[in-house]
Amino acid sequence: MQRRLLIVSNRLPLTIEKTDNLYIPRQSSGGLISAVEAYLNSKGKNNFTEQLWAGVPGVDREVWDKTELDESHYQFMPIFTSQEDYEHYYNGFSNSLLWPLFHYFPSYAAYEPSFFEAYLSVNKVFCETLSATIREDDVVWIHDYHLLPLAGMLREKHPNITIGLFMHIPFPSYELFRVIPKKWQRALLEGMLGADLIGFHTADYVAHFLKSVDIALKTTHDNKYIQWGTRQVQVDAFPISIDFSLFNNAFHQPEIQSLRKKYEALKANKKMLFSVDRLDYTKGILNRLVAYERFLQQYPEYIGNVVFILVVVPSRDAIAKYNEGKKMIDEYIGNLNSSMGSINWQPVIYQYDHLTFEELLALYTTCDVALITPLRDGMNLVAKEFIASRQDQSGVLILSEMAGASAELTDALLINPNDTEEIAESIAIALKLSPEEQESRLNSMQQAIKKYDVNAWAVDFFGELKKVKSLQLKFE
Ligand code: UDP
Repeated sequence: MQRRLLIVSNRLPLTIEKTDNLYIPRQSSGGLISAVEAYLNSKGKNNFTEQLWAGVPGVDREVWDKTELDESHYQFMPIFTSQEDYEHYYNGFSNSLLWPLFHYFPSYAAYEPSFFEAYLSVNKVFCETLSATIREDDVVWIHDYHLLPLAGMLREKHPNITIGLFMHIPFPSYELFRVIPKKWQRALLEGMLGADLIGFHTADYVAHFLKSVDIALKTTHDNKYIQWGTRQVQVDAFPISIDFSLFNNAFHQPEIQSLRKKYEALKANKKMLFSVDRLDYTKGILNRLVAYERFLQQYPEYIGNVVFILVVVPSRDAIAKYNEGKKMIDEYIGNLNSSMGSINWQPVIYQYDHLTFEELLALYTTCDVALITPLRDGMNLVAKEFIASRQDQSGVLILSEMAGASAELTDALLINPNDTEEIAESIAIALKLSPEEQESRLNSMQQAIKKYDVNAWAVDFFGELKKVKSLQLKFE
């Protein structure tokens, strides 16, 4: 394929910082960015002649023009919108309606018409900016729930381009989806069907989407294909993954080794539990703390002999529900540490801040148990990263069955995140799991991640995109 690839996501993969009158771009982090970057940097795997990344830069045009960009891997296409529209599109429709509803928190959803209008307007700005440069043989790869109407908008203007859409969050059961006003349901689904291929993390999300389309748009699907106008649209599961070698090889990196020594000293002879999540009500951080307290009460022999390192990464702090969640977590930890802790020991060591890659890897590889308990999660890459990082073949993963990753990581100790008794019990089991059992479970999960790593994920997606495009041509 000698063609251009246009990647489109809400934000560009960089943050622009001002130092000494210079504007410096720094690479941002996160699952979507790591996945797309890994694919773009894999030599020989992609045959695109040019690669562009479109998204909101997080600064105005004047600052953008002054920023020194490194465009050696791909070019940037900044999308500029009004501040107010962006606010309503991002904090409003995307994160106060779609995010809570699609993660099964319907009571958190805000049905505000002005949010929907702004959501459409910002998608239109994306469409217009892209349209100014788009060529008919371009391949457009749209990411996530912020941009669901975009494929449909682009399709109207450019009937022949190739569009892939990947959704990084769950698609909920129809019973949840149907609570959205009908007009909005149609705009979202019809927009998505502008793509040639729509990818989700799991077969369940695919099934939920197909059912919603059948009912809301009165269509029928044939296996994984929807006949939409003159085109066949494919809907399929592509469980996103990680760069397995990056995480696996990190074990012996000098900086990570020396940080690990530091954390091992902190751990002393205690057992260590570890978790890291963005601050988000979907991540089940409070349930996890309740379960940990229950564990300490039921197994008092661990009091003073276990430590829980809980890292929470700041996120979406402009939204009230996120701030309320932070207050509750802070209070719970304060109470737990004061009621069960002593001068010599604190049950929870809490950090509310980002980690560097080295810190993250040192913590993944020092802990005895990774405790991942989301109430709902599209995939959860932290679970895969923890497994991949354990080159020493020791450590146990406790994982919520509400995370997409649980469909693949079946050798984890799977728990229901609402069942704090089960989590407490699983912590006790994990801490007693024999080294042989730990190794055998880790080994089988490592093989699974290695086989379908982030590259395989992207290659699979583009392979299917190419196939569905040729299928469409056959039927024209
Ligand atoms: N991560 C990060 N900074 C941190 C801690 C974690 O960038 O301080 C990364 C982590 O390595 C993982 C991603 O953030 O790749 C979190 O992805 P996940 O799918 O677990 O959850 P999400 O935040 O996307 O809901």
